[in-house]
Amino acid sequence: MNATAASTAAPFTTIVGLEVHVQLQTLTKLFCGCSTKFGAPPNTQVCPTCLGLPGSLPVMNRHAFELALKAALALNCRIAGFTKWDRKNYFYPDLPKGYQISQFDLPFSADGFLEVVDPKGAFSRRVDIVRVHLEEDAGKSMHDEAAGTADTRIDLNRAGTPLCEIVTQPDLRSPQEARAWLNELKLLLEYLGVSDCNMQEGSLRVDANVNLHIPQPDGRIAKTPIVEIKNVNSFRSVERALVYETARQWEEWQATKAEMGKTPKQTRGWDDPAGVTRAQRHKEESSDYRYFPEPDLVPVTVSEQQLAEVRSRMGEPPTILRKTLADRWKISPYDADVLVNQGRELVAYFEDLATALGDGKVASNWMQQDVLRTLNERGGTIGEFPVRPAALADLIGRVSKGDFDTSRGREIFAEVLASGRPVADVVASLGIAAVGDDELTALCRELLAENPKIVADVKGGKEQAAAGLIGQAKKKNPNVNPGKVRAMCIDLIRAM
Ligand code: ZN
Ligand code: MN
Repeated sequence: MNATAASTAAPFTTIVGLEVHVQLQTLTKLFCGCSTKFGAPPNTQVCPTCLGLPGSLPVMNRHAFELALKAALALNCRIAGFTKWDRKNYFYPDLPKGYQISQFDLPFSADGFLEVVDPKGAFSRRVDIVRVHLEEDAGKSMHDEAAGTADTRIDLNRAGTPLCEIVTQPDLRSPQEARAWLNELKLLLEYLGVSDCNMQEGSLRVDANVNLHIPQPDGRIAKTPIVEIKNVNSFRSVERALVYETARQWEEWQATKAEMGKTPKQTRGWDDPAGVTRAQRHKEESSDYRYFPEPDLVPVTVSEQQLAEVRSRMGEPPTILRKTLADRWKISPYDADVLVNQGRELVAYFEDLATALGDGKVASNWMQQDVLRTLNERGGTIGEFPVRPAALADLIGRVSKGDFDTSRGREIFAEVLASGRPVADVVASLGIAAVGDDELTALCRELLAENPKIVADVKGGKEQAAAGLIGQAKKKNPNVNPGKVRAMCIDLIRAM
């Protein structure tokens, strides 16, 4: 549950902090009008400004700044009324200007937090956020090993793309918590429409800091050197890298007893196929970057009125939505959690369905047992799902009315899904007509005449014996509703 409880099991506590770079969902770059669209041929989305040519001047993208404000507010950060830009100087071939425009001593926001609660109750963790700042991305170096040459080519399409850098306190206590927290952050940013968080396209990148706190016999806490694991490309890999690094540091500690303070912070890269971290160059100190204020950009001021406007357009973040959804539709917190964790579009689908049915519980059951299961099997998004809420509500309504039972309902659902035809059409073409009352009565009388033993049993008080009639009823007419057959047969026997 918490660090103290964990440390009684392991001889150490794992301390994890994260640094996340998120690409903001803008059409154009942070300081010029070039497109940020992914996948264009190399070096086709560039201009004098993002190439750093002499004489060009940057102009801030207001929309990027507003998206960043939205993210920081949702992360409970304090927003600075006055913020400025700084140059972070370093040399790298994919950084044509020789510096990155970033924020150093006056970031636009700081001191926030985001909590993650494990739905199974394994942990609940509030992670403090040191700062969120805005900066531009660098280009991309493509090491052309596939071509069999040692060439490295540079694509500057990405140079100048707006990024939010989110830095946490080292508040996480296990690799599992780190992964869960990242999932929660991604969900939040997607709900806000701040970022598409597409890791394959580099829209979300994670560096993780990790070390161990080891209680000593004399009461002191020994600390292993902090290791920063760079650019891990999936949340699953973040968890794996941290598990590996925790074990490696524990082994190294036992062999060397090397403590923090005596050894500098290390940088290691995660080799995903090999499943190991490897030592990299020493990490620069901030003084190595010779930060200084960006002379070509004016500082930005943020008014209370502007913040109120951004807040009013924010919508419900997942933490709030989990509660309101459970209240509004009378579903369990667990069910609300499952739905909300699937994203904003799925919640909208659910609410349309629940509204059409006038029943949140039934809607939630069908969402989880049928819609989500099918979606997982076939892939794709809920927006592309062929059975829309109105059609599904039509189908569920017929099941509730007793036109057919749930298993027949599932067959119809599968057919509507495969054919894309309306529910009524599918019901007609499968010959699944609702069985009328007269027809049902006649069928039940027939059954009773053929099953004197069951009739006697039911008369004798063994109502459960009526279950033996259902299979026979289905043979006579596959469209009958088992519940209705059972009830009617019992009524008829009682009236005998
Ligand atoms: Zn440009
Ligand atoms: Mn950065």
